[in-house]
Amino acid sequence: MFLQQTKQTQEVELADWTPELAKSAGRDLEGASPEDVLRWGFENFAPSIVLATGFGPEGVVLMHLVSQIRPETTVFYLDTDLLFSQTYELRDKLANQLGIHFERIHSGISLKEQEVRHGNTLWSRDPDTCCQIRKVIPQRQFLARHHAWITGIRRDQTAFRANTGLVEWDYANKMVKLNPLAAWTSEQVWNHIRERDLPYNELHDYGYPSIGCWTCTKAVAAGADPRSGRWAGSEKTECGIHLPSLNDKQ
Ligand code: SF4
Repeated sequence: MFLQQTKQTQEVELADWTPELAKSAGRDLEGASPEDVLRWGFENFAPSIVLATGFGPEGVVLMHLVSQIRPETTVFYLDTDLLFSQTYELRDKLANQLGIHFERIHSGISLKEQEVRHGNTLWSRDPDTCCQIRKVIPQRQFLARHHAWITGIRRDQTAFRANTGLVEWDYANKMVKLNPLAAWTSEQVWNHIRERDLPYNELHDYGYPSIGCWTCTKAVAAGADPRSGRWAGSEKTECGIHLPSLNDKQ
């Protein structure tokens, strides 16, 4: 089914992709391995396809697979100026060990400028606006130059992510989104990392299962919801870069 779908979709011009085509491709690929989903994506969209990472374990797995299948792929990350030092160390290890080509995406707005415009510690008073400024808008501007992007989101991470397709339409960015690990469990992700001795963020060993900006990430107790340390104490569960495509309409 994977090859058949590949032959069909290869004939689709990049600009002609629609939400229906993306959804259909996702349905046809259901059950395919992450490697096959990536190959399908590269066959249909390269070189106009990029991998996003926040340097979580899923990103490490995808970078490892991409380094084997299409090593020249651009991997981008959102540098909010508020990442943990351990996250930057992991970035450098991945560049050295896997030969990853990173592209740093930044808002162009320093923390000082943000403070002048919005006041001190915006993240503690209005995290949605802070994420919009430092993540969502810069990413949207970057993705506008491409036709497809790859993410590491998985269905069992949050209720919002439960219906994630292997391929879907990103309504906010009007492009195709690939989620090759959508059907994987956290255990599969960590087995892949450990069996290959891949690097990972050392904070995971100290009670941080999900890591974002240091200002909005806390350690969690063993057995707690892995994402409960993100924006702890508020109702916010997503930074906003994935929500639009999960809503499946806009
Ligand atoms: S995670 Fe927190 S500090 Fe980082 S961009 Fe969002 S609100 Fe701002």
